[in-house]
Amino acid sequence: MTNETRNAGRHFLQIPGPTPVPDRIHRAMAQPILDHRGPEFQRLALRVLANVKSIFKTRNPVIIFPSSGTGAWEAAMVNTLSPGDHVLMVETGQFATLWKNMAVKLGLVPEFLPTDWRSGVDAAQVEARLAEDKAHKIKAVCIVHNETATGCRSDIKAVRDAMDAVNHPALLMVDTISSLAVMDLRHDEWGIDVTISGSQKGLMLPPGLAFTAVSDKALAASKTAKLARAYFHWDDMLANNANGFFPYTPATGLLYGLDVAIDMLNEEGLDNVFARHERLAEATRRAVSAWGLEILCANPKDYSPAVTAVLMPDGHNADQFRKAVLERFDMSLGMGLGKVAGKVFRIGHLGDTNELTIVGALAGVEMGLTLAGVPHRAGGVTAAMAYLTDKTPAESARAA
Ligand code: PLP
Repeated sequence: MTNETRNAGRHFLQIPGPTPVPDRIHRAMAQPILDHRGPEFQRLALRVLANVKSIFKTRNPVIIFPSSGTGAWEAAMVNTLSPGDHVLMVETGQFATLWKNMAVKLGLVPEFLPTDWRSGVDAAQVEARLAEDKAHKIKAVCIVHNETATGCRSDIKAVRDAMDAVNHPALLMVDTISSLAVMDLRHDEWGIDVTISGSQKGLMLPPGLAFTAVSDKALAASKTAKLARAYFHWDDMLANNANGFFPYTPATGLLYGLDVAIDMLNEEGLDNVFARHERLAEATRRAVSAWGLEILCANPKDYSPAVTAVLMPDGHNADQFRKAVLERFDMSLGMGLGKVAGKVFRIGHLGDTNELTIVGALAGVEMGLTLAGVPHRAGGVTAAMAYLTDKTPAESARAA
């Protein structure tokens, strides 16, 4: 028994992941625990390991670890690199910074190209640095596809083209933790060597699964890489996965959920999933500009379909505003991370989200701005509704 009052209805979880889990996935996960060395698990694992490839758009193996997404960062590096290797990374925001910090801890030498945290990766800057690296000291280029901290996405195809333009042999590693099943991602076609992801965002699952999709080149690199690896060793995983098993106890419940999540994404159609995210993101941005507030991402071509980070007017603290929204309307908004802590709040519009969810969330933001005394104009929700009623989803997908 607690003295807290009950909040009626569902909590509005509008952070950029973990995202709400659909009932169908909850039901799929609510199964009796099964023997992870038995035939029923083997059938499930073989099916999931085969089907998940379509989400990454790859024919190569997708390795699934019981881990948060951070484990996939580590798996990508320890399986392919050696102590002292240089890696080229771009400071798109807090997640790129954390990944860079991990590289240092692992004994790698990151070269960190700066940005102002208001745009995605500048492929020309990557190309210029690689062109100088005539000795090919740089062994990997590591990019965060969607920087969840800033709401800026990066053009991965442009980075691949930049690497090819200077014939640089580095591996391309891409963090798609908040972009997979949200925006287009083509592991094979874009020549990505390690695609890194997690379960708790576009895949609509609880946290707890980490993914690395691997190219043949990454697998070849793993044969000579010298960083210490144990839990995240690809060889052990691949050998066991070939028969539908894992080298240790897998997250069986989450794999039941993943099986259904893949079905749900395919039933909607990945292109429709991407178009839905673009549409909800655009509705959100229209609300923000009608409020007269500024979007952190300064470059419209980099606007994220997953999350919109909104700058607070000077003298106003984003966390006080978020607290007011949580206490009054039972809605969680994303906090500002790292350099932008207290300065931005983030509206997540990814995962199992629809038009009415986003309109409800924007209404909570608009009322919260008033309650917290944040200067703004009324009419953001009206602008979002006008956008969503003006065109059907199919019409806005065609117009995009
Ligand atoms: N990379 C990105 C882009 C993320 O958004 C996150 C988490 O939000 C991470 C990495 C870290 O993943 P995890 O918290 O699952 O370890």
